[in-house]
Amino acid sequence: MTSVDPVPTLSETRLRDLRPSSEPVEILARVVSVERREVTRRSDGGRRPLLSGLLSDGTATVRFTWWDPPREGIERGTVLRAAGVEVREFRGRPELTFSWKTRVEPASAVELPRVTGEEFPLKRVVDLAPPEEGFRLRARVVRVEPKSVTVGEERRVVHEGLLADRTGSIAFSSWSDFQLVPGEAIQVAGGYLRTFRSRQQLVLDDRSVVSRIDADDLPEPAELLHAGPRSIAAVEDAGGGEAVAVEGIVVGLLPPSGLVYRCPTCRRTVKSGICRVHGQVEGQADLRARIVLDDGTGALTINAGRAETERLWGVTLAEARARLRDQPDPTLLEEQILERLLGRRLRVRGQGSKDDFGVTIQPESIEAVDVDLDAAAAELSARMPGGR
Ligand SMILES: [Zn+2]
Repeated sequence: MTSVDPVPTLSETRLRDLRPSSEPVEILARVVSVERREVTRRSDGGRRPLLSGLLSDGTATVRFTWWDPPREGIERGTVLRAAGVEVREFRGRPELTFSWKTRVEPASAVELPRVTGEEFPLKRVVDLAPPEEGFRLRARVVRVEPKSVTVGEERRVVHEGLLADRTGSIAFSSWSDFQLVPGEAIQVAGGYLRTFRSRQQLVLDDRSVVSRIDADDLPEPAELLHAGPRSIAAVEDAGGGEAVAVEGIVVGLLPPSGLVYRCPTCRRTVKSGICRVHGQVEGQADLRARIVLDDGTGALTINAGRAETERLWGVTLAEARARLRDQPDPTLLEEQILERLLGRRLRVRGQGSKDDFGVTIQPESIEAVDVDLDAAAAELSARMPGGR
């Protein structure tokens, strides 16, 4: 199986083929990330400059260290050819060291290996973790939507959605239009992973290869999007998830809930007229509710936005502001929302992520489930601290 275009005199070692050895190698790769530092020499206390970061040629990503690098010209995105590079091993993975013996010259992106994807190992969604690269994934397109974003001066379209196999689901964003359609089964190669707002994401670009496949072993979108609720304990164990459904009882609200003011530029909540990024701003009124939901196996937070809060509370933003004019104490609104929601059973679907404070769900839908109020009260009191 030929994995790369035949090059007449291929002197470079592909990054996936790197093995620790005493023989220096020649490589051709793109700088994926780079950081400039200085370390202090023990011998004379002098400062020695150092670049470190990640290199990728599409077949693998490896860490590199470059002693006494040039003052400039090596940035994220730079493609370079380097001969006389040492290969070492750190925690079972190869790493590259550039020294005074290494010769580096600029190279062009078209010289990078063209990957077909078939040479990459097949991974399951559950096995993916940044900075994984050089893998193949067979998955179902659960959903996909174009979204217009501004990059610098330019308007660009990014295709965002969700892919799934039997082991889990992962969000993706693609800068190329692969004409993806919900429901189809695809094989993806040449993508890479990143973590964005504590959420893992598969990123596809014009170097990625997408092909349609026949796959009966992949879940149908409906199985994921309309799956019944799981226990909150299971969602916590999984660290959240892209298409989470839970059902539980409202046991509290976390601040800030109720009327909040947001920065008109970044939508962060504004405290005393100050956005922590944009400074003094004219805050825009908004409603939110950070609902604590408990199903007996655990608790998580639902970040309800304005529309969901208005619907669950039965009070609009305009009405809430009018109430404040009569009683100018914002904590009253929070109490009124809690009074309306406490003990209600909600079924929530959305995207869950986990941090030190537990799992938070960004809801796509919140349904109130009819419940026997006496039974709910009994269930609730059984769950109060000391009642467990
Ligand atoms: Zn701001």
